[in-house]
Amino acid sequence: METSDGAGVKLRRSIGAGGGNRLDPFLMLDEFGTDNPEDYIAGFPPHPHRGFETVTYMIDGHMRHEDHLGNVGELKSGGVQWMTAGRGVIHSEMPQQESGRMRGFQLWINLPAAEKMTPAAYRDIPAADIPVLELDDGRRLKVIAGTLSIEGHTVAGPVNSEPGRMRTDPLMVDVELPAGARVTLPVPPGHNAFAYVYEGGVDVAGAALPARNVGILGAGDHVEFVGGKAGSRVLVLAGSPLEEPVVQYGPFVMNTREEIDQALADYRSGQLTT
Ligand code: MN
Repeated sequence: METSDGAGVKLRRSIGAGGGNRLDPFLMLDEFGTDNPEDYIAGFPPHPHRGFETVTYMIDGHMRHEDHLGNVGELKSGGVQWMTAGRGVIHSEMPQQESGRMRGFQLWINLPAAEKMTPAAYRDIPAADIPVLELDDGRRLKVIAGTLSIEGHTVAGPVNSEPGRMRTDPLMVDVELPAGARVTLPVPPGHNAFAYVYEGGVDVAGAALPARNVGILGAGDHVEFVGGKAGSRVLVLAGSPLEEPVVQYGPFVMNTREEIDQALADYRSGQLTT
């Protein structure tokens, strides 16, 4: 679904479109991608979050993050920002370019009830710190979160689920396949998983998935992709479902209506982040 957010940034929302269509623990996936500065130049001026994690993955471009704690982070091509909003963050995400292409993703991952009010934290992960597994036939797998064991290789992404940490145990892999190339990705059993094609089309588990579409994967422990005629780039996400009630009001995602009212009251009184 085409939509806009922030101060008018044009984007395509798949997971989370229409305020629903979530895939536990994933709340939302937005793709932004344009060569036209008018579509992104206004950026995302200061705004709050509470109760979940936001993951920004830049494919092309440069944005600057600033938050209420005084953190400043530069998001550049190929880099990721992994922010745990916890009890509250107020931040801005503003383009640092006036022309050229800006392309990337924002993903929202829910936090379990027990972690929704933890202190805010964030990590800037430059492209150089994200491992890329180069397999034969030009297949490339960039492991952003989780650990991938495939064709005799084991690659751990910079965001990783130590025991007892990260209840959602996310796997996030950017898959690049030349035309006709085939790869079978292991997926943790019991996780909910989806694939979003952002370049070319792809065959996923034997079905054609066109560009800019999300494919929700069924139960199992692996999924096969075959690159489309022009090659494919696919974002693959998997996470352990929380199976808790979700009550969302814009950038606040809690378990109950009362907790949303509290978030709004805290925001209005300047206490969201304290
Ligand atoms: Mn934000």
